[in-house]
This record gives sequence, structure tokens and C-alpha cells, in this order.
Amino acid sequence: MGAITAELVRCAEERGVTLRTATPVRRVVIADGVAVGVELADGTVAPHDIVISNADPVTTCRYLIGDHPLMADYQAVLASYDPATWYAPTKIALALDRLPAFAIDEPLAQQHIGGLFICPSPAAQAAAFAAAKAGRLPNPNMIALMTPTTTDPTLAPPGKHLMCLYVRCTPLTCDGAPWDASNEHFLYEDALDQLSAYLPDLRACIRAQHLISPTTLQREYGLATGEIMHLPLETPWLFDQRPVPGYSDYTTPIAQLFLCGAGTHPGGTVTGAPGHNCAQRIIAEFA
Ligand SMILES: Cc1cc2nc3c(=O)[nH]c(=O)nc-3n(C[C@H](O)[C@H](O)[C@H](O)COP(=O)(O)OP(=O)(O)OC[C@H]3O[C@@H](n4cnc5c(N)ncnc54)[C@H](O)[C@@H]3O)c2cc1C
Repeated sequence: MGAITAELVRCAEERGVTLRTATPVRRVVIADGVAVGVELADGTVAPHDIVISNADPVTTCRYLIGDHPLMADYQAVLASYDPATWYAPTKIALALDRLPAFAIDEPLAQQHIGGLFICPSPAAQAAAFAAAKAGRLPNPNMIALMTPTTTDPTLAPPGKHLMCLYVRCTPLTCDGAPWDASNEHFLYEDALDQLSAYLPDLRACIRAQHLISPTTLQREYGLATGEIMHLPLETPWLFDQRPVPGYSDYTTPIAQLFLCGAGTHPGGTVTGAPGHNCAQRIIAEFA
């Protein structure tokens, strides 16, 4: 994935764009309802004609804009993203000494190539979503499984593998509190128990593991929502409702302030589509 970013950097710099990374923005500077620049964490104010935020919509509104009369209705909609009633995936990365075999009467061949979704039944899937929305860890859960080293062996030492698990339905908070080590341990063991029915020797293959809970996404990745897609990819956060009804065209109530990240239509994953659409919107108005 880094190759995509590197190519974007190359294209931008070729066209004279100045990029500043590792430069946190403290706030968007607004004058008379118009975004006129950004203030950096070191206090420097950088004036700009247009400000485009790739931070998630909640971060942009709550922390980079703060209380502003023009944003009241917009922020009220985002405030309905209630951590007590939403869920997000938890990622578990497993370093494997070897590929585990599936519990099927076939030699281990190409079964690990591509993505697998494991859940016992559609009813179990619905129950998992409902439990996570109620703040509980579902059992069974819905687990997506990918082993990227089957297509890119350079991601691990020779002969070793990286397996990524997305435990799809995990609550943003556990019983109203942030995730802690015991919740993480419980989820990890539970996920492995569930997968062991399909991959009986999975545990024996694991050399190391790393779990990223919604709380870690909030604290370490700066995602205010704890959601890797910035906002859930389900109703009411889809199409013309994303991120807020009336603002699916990448604008905000602040003139010359746009949003371009996964919290805008059509949402997250590494597609570049929100950024492309936002750029077209800005070009149409200002070019
Ligand atoms: C653990 C994890 C695993 C994932 N796995 C996959 C996968 O396998 N496949 C897939 O397609 N997608 C995956 N995703 C989702 C994908 O990464 C996102 O949908 C995508 O990165 C969204 O891109 P974006 O540019 O909109 O936002 P982001 O990539 O979230 O970028 C937002 C940027 O804004 C910056 N920022 C925030 N606040 C400030 C500030 N105040 N000042 C300056 N900068 C700021 C952040 O540092 C960040 O660089 C995963 C996400 C995570 C977290």
C-alpha cells in the first residue's frame, strides 16, 4: 500500500506541490465564516485559499474547528455517532511460522489466497452486529481472514507468514469503558477458538500477535470515532447522508473548507475515491 502513497507523492511533487508530513494541525483558522488557513501544533499559522481536511469528520469538527455557530447543526448530526451504540472492527495481526492447514480433506494449496469471511450463519452474523451495538463482545463473531504473504512474500522473513484477522463486530467501548488488556485478551482467545474449528493447528503456527482495538485506533491512530472507515459504512452514514445530510458534496458549513477522507462518500478502504471526488468538486468551483 505504501507504493500507492509514494506514487501520489511523486505525481504531486512533479506538479510543484509542497508536502509537509509529520506536521500536526491544531485548528482551522476561520474568519467571517470562511476558512483562511491552518494553525500548526507549533503555533505557526499557514494562510491558504482553500482548506481540505483528510482527518475524520469528528476530529475535523470537534478538534480542528471546535464550537462555531455555523457548525452547530452539522456537529449535532455527528454527535449522534454514539460510541455506546456503535461498533467497529478489531484487527489482529498474527506472525506465523508456517501456514495452518484447513480442516478439510485436501492438501494445503491455495486456500489462503484471497479473503475469507468466517461466520457460522446469517443469523449468527445478525446476532453479532446486535451484540456489538449493545456494547457486548459477540460470540460467535464474524471474522475476515487474509494472509497477504501468500501474494507478497516480502512482508515476512522467508518461509514465514503474516495473517490479518478482522474481527468484524466489536463494540467501541466495553460496558461503557475503553478497551483494556483483559478485553483484548478475551477477544483474542475467543477469535482463535472460533477459527480453530476451521484451522485446527492455527495456535501452533503463531509466533507473535498484535491486536488493534477501537480504543487503540482512537488513542494511537488519532481516529476519533475508533472506526477504520472514519464513519461506519452503513445507514445512516451512506450516500447523500455521508458524512452529514446536505454535505455529501465534500463542502462544510464553513466556506472554503472541504472534507476529502474516508468519512465522506463513498467511504473508506484504499480507493482514493473520496479524495478524487472532492478534488473534482473543488476544481468545478475554483478552477
Ligand atoms: C488497522 C487498519 C487496517 C486496515 N486495513 C485495510 C485493508 O486491509 N484494506 C483496505 O482497503 N483498507 C484498510 N483499512 C482502511 C483504510 O486504511 C482507510 O479506509 C483509509 O486509510 C482511509 O484513507 P483516508 O486518507 O481517508 O484517511 P486516513 O488514512 O485515516 O488518513 C487521515 C490522515 O489525517 C491525519 N490527521 C488526522 N488529524 C490530523 C491533524 N490534526 N493534523 C495533521 N494530520 C492529521 C492522520 O495522521 C492521517 O494520516 C485499514 C485501516 C486500519 C486503521
